[in-house]
Amino acid sequence: MSLRVRGPRAQRFVDLLGRYTGLTLVLDHEMVSIDRNSLLIPSESQTLQDLVEEIVHSPNVVEVVAFGGVPDPMLNIDTFLAMPEFHRPRRSVYVADLEEIERMSPILARGLMGHILREYYGASRPPGQQPSEAYADNHVAAMRTEAQIVGDLLDRPIWTGHVRPWEHTYGTINV
Ligand SMILES: [Zn+2]
Repeated sequence: MSLRVRGPRAQRFVDLLGRYTGLTLVLDHEMVSIDRNSLLIPSESQTLQDLVEEIVHSPNVVEVVAFGGVPDPMLNIDTFLAMPEFHRPRRSVYVADLEEIERMSPILARGLMGHILREYYGASRPPGQQPSEAYADNHVAAMRTEAQIVGDLLDRPIWTGHVRPWEHTYGTINV
């Protein structure tokens, strides 16, 4: 078991992840496990379900520190690296931001959840080792996962050409 969720909104994050995957997830002493008696919900994304299963059974430790997010008017969603100036540890996720996005687009919220988890999983390491700080590589891999999840939910294939569909980065925004 190696999805470690802590922080003031840990339970809310796990509840959200359970809803987005259709899996019954249990948070106990910061560790997430999957209740084997849970019924799978076929309308949710298989890619996201598989990712969560893989993380939960991985020897690596995938960390999430769950915070609220409001009243900050910005949608920050998450921060991969620590931001000491804002007293935020690495892998901070803002649950209220995800919930706000979900109100606008439930599919995008699921895609972003998968993006976050793929990015953190890619950077994770076994217990006792420092996780990777390589943001860019893991971020690009996460965009593919995000596209796959959205593709699952819309029943559309993702782009498979040589040019990535997210071709430009303006500052911190990928287009
Ligand atoms: Zn990213």
